[in-house]
Amino acid sequence: VWERALEKLRHSTTDYLYENWISQITEVSRDERTLTLGVPSLFVRDWIVTHYVDLVRKAVHSAAGEPLEIEFVIDEARKAGAQPVAREPVRQSDEVVIGEIEVARPRPKLSERFTFENFVVGPSNQLAAAAAAAVAENPGKQYNPLFIYGGTGLGKTHLLHAIGNRILERDPKMRVVYISAEHFLNEFVTLVKKGQMEEFRRRFRQGVDVLMMDDIQVLKKAQETQNEFFHTFNDLHDAGKAIILTSDINPNELPNIESRLRTRFTSGLTADVYEPPFEVRIAIIKRKAEFERVNLPDDVAQFVASKISRSVRDLEGALTRLAAHANLTGRPLSPAYAQEILRDLLPQRQALSSDHVQKVVARYYGLTTDDLRGEKRLRPIANARSVAMYFCRKLIGDSFPTIGGAFGNKHHTTVMAAVERVAEKRVEGSPFARELEELERQITGA
Ligand code: ADP
Ligand code: MG
Repeated sequence: VWERALEKLRHSTTDYLYENWISQITEVSRDERTLTLGVPSLFVRDWIVTHYVDLVRKAVHSAAGEPLEIEFVIDEARKAGAQPVAREPVRQSDEVVIGEIEVARPRPKLSERFTFENFVVGPSNQLAAAAAAAVAENPGKQYNPLFIYGGTGLGKTHLLHAIGNRILERDPKMRVVYISAEHFLNEFVTLVKKGQMEEFRRRFRQGVDVLMMDDIQVLKKAQETQNEFFHTFNDLHDAGKAIILTSDINPNELPNIESRLRTRFTSGLTADVYEPPFEVRIAIIKRKAEFERVNLPDDVAQFVASKISRSVRDLEGALTRLAAHANLTGRPLSPAYAQEILRDLLPQRQALSSDHVQKVVARYYGLTTDDLRGEKRLRPIANARSVAMYFCRKLIGDSFPTIGGAFGNKHHTTVMAAVERVAEKRVEGSPFARELEELERQITGA
């Protein structure tokens, strides 16, 4: 099976990917449900599991004509032979190492656009921005590590660059390393493969004053890399060097990150960024418009800020597009024109179905939709069922008999009673009310 899958992968992936990663995989054994594949080392396994497992799974699926579980094992026989022979000379570098460490760019820079001056502060990012500024003033002295988390496009990377820019502005001799966790992982795997662990450690542990690692959620599943990072972290931290980390979720909820790492992550200050409120969105979009010299009337700024709320990156995207259109057509911007230009970016009012409601509610409570449609009267199931009925009523406006039909033909009085029970229990500010709010967000995708 694997041979055929390999054939497919050879044609469907780049040569680079194939030569470096895919071709290292061999078939070890196969039974009815599982294909066991061998890889030369833990590092290769980590790498493939984090990056290419879907690709591999698809190829195997299509080669076998059925889905197979895939398991990776370390191929001990090949382990010894896989040691690299030549060592590249150690690169002497005292420059700021940023982003892609892989030397192609001689003196990489932090983005100049990402400064504290260009960062609009509001309630949604106040703590994170203040902590970032404090760390930039006194790197390593307080809030160490600083851990910033929050959804995508909300300014985490911007803040990291701002810290780096500020530190270098004040002291150009500081050695600031900014790297995405993804690149860290890349580097680790590549250098380990080449037998250059020393070089790797030198880059990240020696002579580093500030280490900023972006999007560390990427390290999930990469056990060896996590282990290495743990030591990097401890070395730097013990030496009083500043560490700033970001992730897209709360460090306490990071899946597949070792608990000793999580403990270290949260030993300093943890600050979140969330969706900016309306006023801040307006301020941000106006600031950007000014910066880009776009003539943006107030009513258009308000229109855009009211429609796009989830990420600042999306706000920027919208502004860029508005500017381009206005420039090309010479037509002045108005809310109606903006609506036309941004149509596909604006949230679609998608028709909700009871199916969808059931799916979301079931997932939320760790049940199946069959549970919700079934007859089981166990408390947690009955409660979840009531909640799902409640949302069908509230968000879709279905009639009680219709809802009954969608839940395995329950009597409409049963539905009515369930909906009422939920509405009664929904006391403003209670944990249950918060639970319902969260569910509603998930259902409507708001
Ligand atoms: P994240 O790393 O959280 O996904 P980024 O830092 O890449 O988000 O931010 C996305 C874009 O939005 C960037 O261009 C950034 O400059 C901008 N941005 C985010 N928050 C703000 C803010 N508060 N003020 C100004 N620009 C912001
Ligand atoms: Mg980012």
